[in-house]
Amino acid sequence: MIELLLLLLPVAAASGWMAAKQHHQKNIQNEPIPKDYFTGLNFLLNEQPDKAVEVFIKLLEVNADTVETHLALGHLFRKQGEVDRAIRIHQNLIARPQLTKAQRNQALFALAKDYFSAGVLDRSERLFLDAFDENNRDLDSLQHLLDIYQQEKSWEQAIEIAKKLTALTGKSQHVEIAHYYCELAEKALHTKELGQARHLLKQALASDKHNARALLLKAKIEASLQDYQTAIHTLESIKENNPAYFSETIPLLVIYHQQSNKRYDLFSFLEKSLVDCPRISTALVLTQQLQQSHPERAYLFLKNYLTAHPSLRGLYALLELASQLPTQNNASCAQADEKIPLIQTLLAPTLLNHPIYLCQHCGFSGKTLLWLCPSCKQWNVIKPILGLEGE
Ligand SMILES: [Zn+2]
Repeated sequence: MIELLLLLLPVAAASGWMAAKQHHQKNIQNEPIPKDYFTGLNFLLNEQPDKAVEVFIKLLEVNADTVETHLALGHLFRKQGEVDRAIRIHQNLIARPQLTKAQRNQALFALAKDYFSAGVLDRSERLFLDAFDENNRDLDSLQHLLDIYQQEKSWEQAIEIAKKLTALTGKSQHVEIAHYYCELAEKALHTKELGQARHLLKQALASDKHNARALLLKAKIEASLQDYQTAIHTLESIKENNPAYFSETIPLLVIYHQQSNKRYDLFSFLEKSLVDCPRISTALVLTQQLQQSHPERAYLFLKNYLTAHPSLRGLYALLELASQLPTQNNASCAQADEKIPLIQTLLAPTLLNHPIYLCQHCGFSGKTLLWLCPSCKQWNVIKPILGLEGE
């Protein structure tokens, strides 16, 4: 493709030259092809494409007829990953004094995109800011600025731009804004500024009251201040506000109830949850509790749960329980017992390697809960997997 683009350059330069002559109303038949055109071709033939690009760009006279050709070529080079060449084309265009204001803004916007693609974010940011001011508050520039601030982790600026986008388009950015506040809160937590972190989480929840990340962080801060009762209440609210993340609260609920000596409350809450928000993590905590005093009841409890809600993780735990029960005094039971370790061995790699979280937007999966999908760059779309292979 790059080779094809390089071959298009002399064609574009020649047509640009002809268009320029027509533009000046000269007799093109009497005009010789410029000497530089052959110099450029020579560079191409000698496999010196960068020198050829320089020559052809200079040759492609900038006027109303050829600006589009420059922009199209720059766009094609950027699309092919040849960002340096796209930058040279656009810089050459901007340097021409005869451009109209609209053409100049178009070229500046294209150059800002080049720098963004090249990862030169500070230059790209400056140009998009100019483009936003110049191009009558153009939304594309704002969207690119938001991408830049996200990449740079400049969360305050990201909040400012997201609010501007909401105001200009009427399309809410409340999910994104809540996560930007959570990012700032995590930064504050890192430097032990608990008051500031709480203030930021309050703003996150004001933007999106269903944000599970903000609620999880809030509960962790409350627990760190030994206010376990409030922390438990905050975690329990996730089941109502955002049940997709309920399984994330279960390990913390176990710890905080232990710390506050309220184990009975935990089991009562989890038993109710098995009905309105069934998760294998919940069933396993209850099974473990039963197992300490009544192993056979624990086995039956888990078996009944799995009949209604099949789960590979649950099956593995059930086999573990079965292997710990006293061996039955008949040959067929003994044979079945012998097969348990084999089935567990077959299940173990699947459980170990299987992803736990899945992006609902693009299908990216992994074993860590990420709030921003690294693949589709959407917030709040990666969730715990439910069903047989998940929760
Ligand atoms: Zn995704």
